[in-house]
Amino acid sequence: MSNLPNCPKCQSEYTYEDRDVLVCPECGNEWKAGVEDESGNDPQVVKDAHGNVLQDGDTVTVIKDLKVKGSSSVVKIGTKVKNIRLVEGDHDIDCKIDGFGAMQLKSEFVKKA
Ligand SMILES: [Zn+2]
Repeated sequence: MSNLPNCPKCQSEYTYEDRDVLVCPECGNEWKAGVEDESGNDPQVVKDAHGNVLQDGDTVTVIKDLKVKGSSSVVKIGTKVKNIRLVEGDHDIDCKIDGFGAMQLKSEFVKKA
């Protein structure tokens, strides 16, 4: 038995895998495996140090002194960062910090405010 999900369009269970997509023979629908249908969830989930899910526009607090790359400045613990934007990559938060300008942070070093 396969454990492929049913077709999100017509709920057919006769779906099959074709390379990296799933195909429904009944309605011809094709979709990417591994992406939940209609869940409304972003495939990329970014969590703060306590496991809270972060979203674009959130305000977070820095929980660790962070050295700013290429300078001697340090973003101090407790610094509030408003209106974050989630991005892909090692540093998954794009933001602007007063006095520092545009920065990228790691979500593991912040907590949701
Ligand atoms: Zn279908």
